[in-house]
Amino acid sequence: MEEITKAKVQQFDSMLREARCVTIAAHVNADGDAVGSCSGMLHYLCENRGLDAVVALPDRDAGVSSFLIPEEDRPFFLFHGSNPEEAERRIEGSDLIILQDCNGFSRTEGLASALEKAPAKKVLIDHHVGPETESFDLVFSTSEVSSASELLFFILMALPDIGGDAGKLPQMTGLALMTGMTTDTNNFANSVYPTTFDMASRLIAAGVDRDSILGQLYFSYKENRLRLMGFLLSKMTITPEGVAYMILTRRNLAHFGISEGETEGFVNLPLSIKEVRMSVFLKQDNGCFRVSTRSKKGVSARKFAERYFNGGGHENAAGGRLYFSDEISSIRDVVAYLEQSINDFFA
Ligand code: 5GP
Ligand code: MN
Repeated sequence: MEEITKAKVQQFDSMLREARCVTIAAHVNADGDAVGSCSGMLHYLCENRGLDAVVALPDRDAGVSSFLIPEEDRPFFLFHGSNPEEAERRIEGSDLIILQDCNGFSRTEGLASALEKAPAKKVLIDHHVGPETESFDLVFSTSEVSSASELLFFILMALPDIGGDAGKLPQMTGLALMTGMTTDTNNFANSVYPTTFDMASRLIAAGVDRDSILGQLYFSYKENRLRLMGFLLSKMTITPEGVAYMILTRRNLAHFGISEGETEGFVNLPLSIKEVRMSVFLKQDNGCFRVSTRSKKGVSARKFAERYFNGGGHENAAGGRLYFSDEISSIRDVVAYLEQSINDFFA
């Protein structure tokens, strides 16, 4: 992989040799790739390098990715949303910070100012476009991989102590990286590269139990998640431009007894309809709606999220927010803004 040069790997290796106290961080609303790549790095640093390492995330908990954090790992995960002081103190006292699965500190919300101010050396490992290179001492960034987990896998393979042998990774690192790649590709459905299969093949050969990952990810849902899915699909709107949208309110969530994180994947469903070119999913949050967009080839979900929802992401999978304001104060206003945005985008 071109992005992983010998010089960068040597520099990363030296940084790890000099480091004492490492903090790994990722984006807010951590998904499987964020939690997976962080857990993968954590176990490698602790078990293979003997480092004092922890993960700091902006959220209150790991939500649906909590299964990646077994009981004995919990002390190594700090959640700024539930204990800001502890996370900030740790960041201040770190001599190495590794940011993964986002292109800059602004995506870490509550953690951002502590991470920016910290005197530590800083490394970025990410697969989004537009890395904020000036904030880091070392950057591994390419969008030609499925996930941050995949990029991290190949960085680890290139390190001298691993020497390309996936069998030398801690067991949990293999499991976590396979999980992160699986969720970001939606189980090999999108953003899959030749290297993605190479990684999967080597991890399976090294003993990673893919069946147990699939069981956790796709066969362990609550009944009401499917019933909420049915409810939303029955109310889905499809515009003349071929954009499907669904809106999830707090009332809906409460009625079905489901957490917002459990609706991951809903946004993909409308793309199975031939005429649908883009899917937009709005979820009510504190003072705003969180927006998820997915598109087929030829339509840029990223540009749509950037232009109308103050967001970003990948070409065909992006997100952002729509804040309540004087103009947008009801669901009806939200629908009007969305319809207008779609109209304008395809004009
Ligand atoms: P999701 O729809 O799964 O929340 O996010 C899909 C993609 O869009 C992810 O790669 C995520 O990093 C990106 N994304 C989601 N929300 C935002 C946002 O508010 N800002 C930016 N820049 N990217 C986002
Ligand atoms: Mn990712």
